Amino acid sequence: AALKTKGIEKSVWVEFNQLALEVKPLNLGQGFPDFAAPENVRRALSRVCNDNENVLLNQYTRGFGHPRLVTALGKLYSAEMERVIDPMQEILVTAGAYESLFVAMMGLVNPGDEVIIIEPFFDCYDPQVRLAGGLPVFVPLRPSRVGTVTTSAEWKLDPAELAAAFSNKTKAIIVNTPNNPLGKVFSRAELEMIAELCKKHDTIAIMDEVYEWMTYSGETHVRMATLPGMWERTITIGSAGKTFSVTGWKLGWTIGPAQLLAGPKVIHQHSVYTCTTPIQEAVALGFEEETARRGTPECYFQALPAQLEVKRDRVVSILTEVGMYPIVPQGGYFILAYVRDIMNKIDVGGDPNESRDFRFVKWLSRNRKLQGIPPSAFYSQEHKNIGEDYIRLCFIKEDVNLEKAGEILKQLK
Ligand code: PMP
Ligand code: GLN
Repeated sequence: AALKTKGIEKSVWVEFNQLALEVKPLNLGQGFPDFAAPENVRRALSRVCNDNENVLLNQYTRGFGHPRLVTALGKLYSAEMERVIDPMQEILVTAGAYESLFVAMMGLVNPGDEVIIIEPFFDCYDPQVRLAGGLPVFVPLRPSRVGTVTTSAEWKLDPAELAAAFSNKTKAIIVNTPNNPLGKVFSRAELEMIAELCKKHDTIAIMDEVYEWMTYSGETHVRMATLPGMWERTITIGSAGKTFSVTGWKLGWTIGPAQLLAGPKVIHQHSVYTCTTPIQEAVALGFEEETARRGTPECYFQALPAQLEVKRDRVVSILTEVGMYPIVPQGGYFILAYVRDIMNKIDVGGDPNESRDFRFVKWLSRNRKLQGIPPSAFYSQEHKNIGEDYIRLCFIKEDVNLEKAGEILKQLK
């Protein structure tokens, strides 16, 4: 293997999806719904593939994004970001938000540049920055209380710690809101604090907003790109997989000013080049439909979070009942639960050099047939201890499966 792959071989997804294949547990690990995606987008895809009037929809399309899709995205995000977005210049369609993140790092970061990553973070940010030759600089969200029921809003950046992470080497900061795994929805004030530092240090904001439509009562998703002076220095990443509950479709996009998309486009054109045409057409049809019924309860962007909020509340009460203090998420479809007391009671075995959440999650999967994800995977080496007392559970699952998980957890009490 090439030298650039050394030190980044491990992936929590490879490891825990393999475990799930072996053990066949009730899977609240990797984030995906276990129920049907909306019928309109599924039907759209089968119609598109079989459209005898438009057989070219099964062939290559425009490399930077299928025209119908970028047009639909342009219309929706122009309204969302309160500015006219040029679909041909200011949008890049990619193979999932993963590729958007990857081409952002490869196309914007120079060797030796520093990139600030807020912890806990979606795990691929760190190896992607390194592959680009950049140096990750980690700043953790810090909880005001632990070992009791709290909310993700109580996990905050220390303003001094964040400011100290910026320097003249800082090329970018990656912000994920709503956050995976914590469920934190960054407030306007928090984003403004980050924005001020970005402007002061001439830094790009890479906004991972894949859970943009999943915020719960009382929370608003604020877009960094809409803050004063930030459009010019922000790229915003979204995902069709998350938006329409079709994670297997692997389609994403980056929205931002043409000058910030130039580098990422070069990487995209020399790697993936063009994404699947029928998927792009079907997602375009989905967006056209949702844009037309925006603001109504039928719109999926409202229907999905309404459905998820009930699940979140159910999981919060299950976890509270079994003595695993949940961190109530403000958005997204993951929840962290504090399992230190329970871990202390169980001899989970495993390799003592491994973090205790990894050992506990493996034990739970093998011995109790319930799969979660160990949150220390979302931390740098130096801060793993902050995540080690928790387990991440995914709650975009059928109610019956959430209840089954509750039954398993009760037995641990
Ligand atoms: N960012 C975050 C925060 C995620 O949770 C995910 C989920 N895999 C991604 C990016 C990647 O999304 P996609 O499946 O569209 O590649
Ligand atoms: N975003 C999902 C999660 O965090 C899926 C991760 C993945 O596909 N690697 O579980």
